[in-house]
Amino acid sequence: MKHSFFGGIHPDDGKRYSAASPITPLPPPPQVVIPVSMHIGAPCKPVVQKGDTVKMGQLIAETTGFVAAPIHASVSGTVAAVEPRLHPNGQKVMSIVIDNDGLDTPDESIRSHKEELEKDPHALLELVKNGGIVGMGGATFPTHVKISSGLGKVDTMIVNAAECEPYITSDQRILEEQPEQVIGGIRYLMRMLDLPEAVLAVEGNKPEAIAGLKKRLTPGCGIRLHVLRTRYPQGAEKQLIQSVTGRQVPPGGLPADVACIVFNAHTCWCVNSLAEEGLPSIQRVVTVSGPGVAAPSNFLCRVGTPVSALVEAAGGLREDVDKIVLGGPMMGSAVFDLSVPVIKGTNAVLGLMPNQNLAKENPVCIRCGRCVAACPMHLQPLYLYAAERKGEIGELERLHITDCIECGCCAYVCPGRLQLVQAFKDGKAQVKNKK
Ligand code: SF4
Ligand code: SF4
Repeated sequence: MKHSFFGGIHPDDGKRYSAASPITPLPPPPQVVIPVSMHIGAPCKPVVQKGDTVKMGQLIAETTGFVAAPIHASVSGTVAAVEPRLHPNGQKVMSIVIDNDGLDTPDESIRSHKEELEKDPHALLELVKNGGIVGMGGATFPTHVKISSGLGKVDTMIVNAAECEPYITSDQRILEEQPEQVIGGIRYLMRMLDLPEAVLAVEGNKPEAIAGLKKRLTPGCGIRLHVLRTRYPQGAEKQLIQSVTGRQVPPGGLPADVACIVFNAHTCWCVNSLAEEGLPSIQRVVTVSGPGVAAPSNFLCRVGTPVSALVEAAGGLREDVDKIVLGGPMMGSAVFDLSVPVIKGTNAVLGLMPNQNLAKENPVCIRCGRCVAACPMHLQPLYLYAAERKGEIGELERLHITDCIECGCCAYVCPGRLQLVQAFKDGKAQVKNKK
């Protein structure tokens, strides 16, 4: 049975720029900068200091709370500094700087865990926790916390390969080039959760990936392919659950409230690398694309690689590029200094042109209601905006601002070009501060 979610939009998906570009391994840079905060939750605490020699995959920062993911060296070499450095979020964040010795000497902990997982599939939870795996679709929620919250409560596991944000093709390329690794990760997670079946959900605009998966995922294999209609934000967790199962996560609720658990396809790929090769979360695939990039590409790179190295490898930027965005054009954030590092959640680096910047000076709401029709969370963006401008925190709460997923659908359709998403981010912060 087909299900659907309310609202949403159909922007140009822009996948054509990089969809045919195979994943190219990028040589590890001479120096990596690894922030101690690359996940949702408490920042980690460095366990190395300047002058220490580290191996690739060695633990360099440990967690300080349950909702956190440890951090590992992405290269071998010498710790050059432990100091605040510019983070993709625009703030200075404590970071571990490692001079790469070019040897990639692996840490002793890097070994296959296949045999032990065959004997005890539930050992995966501790492995994922120690391996620092987080949601690689950009959410960066620690995967062990997600597994723990779903244990014994879920009957449906959904693998999110919607990749609904325009331009991004990192998951698409992984599915086309390394489907067995994604499927392997899915099977490890299914065994961990004692689930006989999983659903792999892919948007219909990835025909090559779908064709390859159809050959592998034969009926009865335990993984069901679900082809989704291409519509943004199809990959948002609540919308995906509704599209696949028809179940609606209640406002303020979690997927486990409707017996579902969702993992990103890239996360499954990481789980497989961890189980089969012992690799913690030290690398990822990043799409470098958009009309402002000379040669759009997909790269496999180490965490801590400067964004400038990826842009250079993609042939550089066009002279008239307007802005560089990390993540998708809908939910990503602009960066002004390309020395910032790739972190675990960096799925894309986009070069966008001036005519793609929809901001307008002195925007005015004409009360057309398009934002209401587009909001997949059934919110009333025009009233939320008015309340935020007036600083009416009680009204923001009454209008359920905390349910806003910052998808940008309202801003995309708004003829008044109001800066709606920024207003909602500010409004949510005000509500949180009040609490
Ligand atoms: S879409 Fe823009 S102009 Fe129209 S009602 Fe919403 S905020 Fe106002
Ligand atoms: S940004 Fe928030 S208010 Fe706007 S459409 Fe998305 S969920 Fe709705």
